Amino acid sequence: MSTMSRPLLGPAEIVVDVAAIRDNARLLAATAGVPLIAVVKADGYGHGMVETARAALEGGAAWLATATIEEAVALRAAGVVDVPLLCWITSPTSDHAAAVDADIDVTAYSVEELDEIAAAIGERAVPARIQLKVDTGLSRGGASRADWAALFARARVGEEQGTWRITGLWSHFACADDPSHPANDRQEAAFRDALDLAAGHGLRPEIRHLANSAAAILRPSARFDAVRCGIAMYGLDPAPGQATDIGLVPAMTVRAPLVMVKDLAPGDAVSYGHHWTAQQATTVGLVPVGYAEGIPRNASRPGAPEAAARVGIAGALRPIRGTVCMDQVVVDLGGDRPPVGTEVVVFGPPSAGGPTAQDWAETCGTINYEIVTRIGGRMSRRYVDGEPR
Ligand SMILES: *Cc1c(COP(=O)(O)O)cnc(C)c1O
Repeated sequence: MSTMSRPLLGPAEIVVDVAAIRDNARLLAATAGVPLIAVVKADGYGHGMVETARAALEGGAAWLATATIEEAVALRAAGVVDVPLLCWITSPTSDHAAAVDADIDVTAYSVEELDEIAAAIGERAVPARIQLKVDTGLSRGGASRADWAALFARARVGEEQGTWRITGLWSHFACADDPSHPANDRQEAAFRDALDLAAGHGLRPEIRHLANSAAAILRPSARFDAVRCGIAMYGLDPAPGQATDIGLVPAMTVRAPLVMVKDLAPGDAVSYGHHWTAQQATTVGLVPVGYAEGIPRNASRPGAPEAAARVGIAGALRPIRGTVCMDQVVVDLGGDRPPVGTEVVVFGPPSAGGPTAQDWAETCGTINYEIVTRIGGRMSRRYVDGEPR
């Protein structure tokens, strides 16, 4: 797709297509066949928390989730109400009372945390909504197996006292992006043990949930009452190489104007450290995004020019040359001279004519999650709804 007819005069920007988020949410809910908990933590993986939440709800998401209690409170304050909202990270200074007042489901991992919540919220007319997280093998948050019984017993006491209702019981996979990894079976079996034990303690949670995006798509047995999807809702592949293609479309495009084109002679070296030298005459272009915008500095490594990240310019992929700077990168135009103001697609959906976030992840030795979540810096975000960028 040629973009030369649309010269770009503004600064570098992030364009988020809320139609893609909406459609991805719809696809995920249909694929999983259970309610979708749309994960909008970390500013919606860099896409904007509030806008993403609204698009996900339009696409049929039944729940929203953030990581921190502060994110959840901010989402409510932004007017996203009348939808259940879960969070799972608190700190010793977290305002549980504010969360409960905002009708947020707070996750507790331990008896101590339940005691703290009980003390913080005091007596209320309406019981708080609390979910419990069990650690089934990720060894991160959640109650260890040895502590499950005590957690469930304390949770049940709080229910009987009218302090809270246990609305959910959940856990999180370590290796869902690798469906043949034996840890998946072990974690699912452990989760079923936890559900049985909780039932034995008289707990009747509304939702039991285990699957993230990868498991929601790849592991039907792990869908339970809901799936918690983040990355797939943004249109990125949660398990590259595992045939997870259900028609998701990346929602984020990062674009920048080409701000200068210049000639290089053989022997001219480029950018800090002079790690790349033109072997023959060429043209290079200047693109005003750098590591301050979240462009990984290892997108261009000394001695590995063939492995450098590329950007899309007028339908062609152009490699970064030399070191990624704080504010800009230099790209090889191979003798071409696109006009200043030409759109540079840093990454986006395949239809944008540049690389994808997944391409960048592979180039930089990371995952697509990190590429989109870190992107930002001085760039503003602009929202479109299906119309062209
Ligand atoms: C981030 C997160 C998710 C979403 O994971 P994706 O792989 O992005 O779908 C789900 N559950 C928990 C606990 C998370 O931290």
